[in-house]
Amino acid sequence: MEIFSTVADIREWARQGRGAGHAISLVPTMGALHAGHASLIRAARDSRGLAAVSIFVNPTQFGPHEDYARYPRSFDADCALAEAEGADAVFAPPVEELYPGGATSPIATFVDVEGLSNRLDGASRPGHFRGVATVVAKLLIATEADRAFFGQKDAAQVAVLRRMVTDLRLPAEILVCPIVREPDGLALSSRNLYLSPAERSQALALSRAVRQTETLVSSGERHAVVLIEAAQKIFAAERSSFAAEPQVRIDYIELVNWATLEPVETAAPGSLFAVAAWVGATRLIDNTILG
Ligand code: AMP
Repeated sequence: MEIFSTVADIREWARQGRGAGHAISLVPTMGALHAGHASLIRAARDSRGLAAVSIFVNPTQFGPHEDYARYPRSFDADCALAEAEGADAVFAPPVEELYPGGATSPIATFVDVEGLSNRLDGASRPGHFRGVATVVAKLLIATEADRAFFGQKDAAQVAVLRRMVTDLRLPAEILVCPIVREPDGLALSSRNLYLSPAERSQALALSRAVRQTETLVSSGERHAVVLIEAAQKIFAAERSSFAAEPQVRIDYIELVNWATLEPVETAAPGSLFAVAAWVGATRLIDNTILG
């Protein structure tokens, strides 16, 4: 596995690979790799061609009071995991390489998927999806990737990126892999490292709410109001069972069209039921795409 830190070098590697007849697959990550990332790397490897993993904690997708500075960084372990899962290259640029004028320069180029970027996580994290779209556009252009793999865990991000790729006519296919969970249901996330044991236990409210929604829908319930209220009750029960220190707080619970992220009143195949909640100081997300 080769490791690159400049756009020129990863582009040259990708061009040589394509010249030899290989498609280029990209797995964008912010590092702190876990089994969820590993599943994306395996999917990229299994799609044939060459698999590149980018590791870049992207400053522009963090708000001013968010966890950019303390976001977990574990470069050596990440490279070992990427190599063990069959990656052919890691692209780990310094900030100046992707933001030549600096990430906070008053003059810079951004990609803004209007409308979609203000929905779900974009509503509570202003500027987040602008940062995501911008960095993924830079990575797709740098690698000239044929396909890029993302987790359904960040389902709203997938909607934003699909729209970006369509609107910019980028020649990359966006592929989505299922959510990888702990045995008890908690969706894997690099931010789970922040949770205390008590918070870790309360964080299960998210996956319980998601699983309950799947059960209700499979037993015939379709009304968004009913599904959302039932999910809210799971959080209320969690709070009252930890009444001494209620730590779990809903950010949003929504049923939306997965392409437009607009709320829907009735669940249909492909609707996105998405949850975000604060557990102490950590914001977690989870979701299900309804069958
Ligand atoms: P991140 O490093 O958090 O930016 O995530 C990089 C990619 O891994 C994104 O496409 C995420 O959706 C994906 N990912 C994160 N957690 C999971 C998970 N539990 N299961 C599957 N994919 C995941």
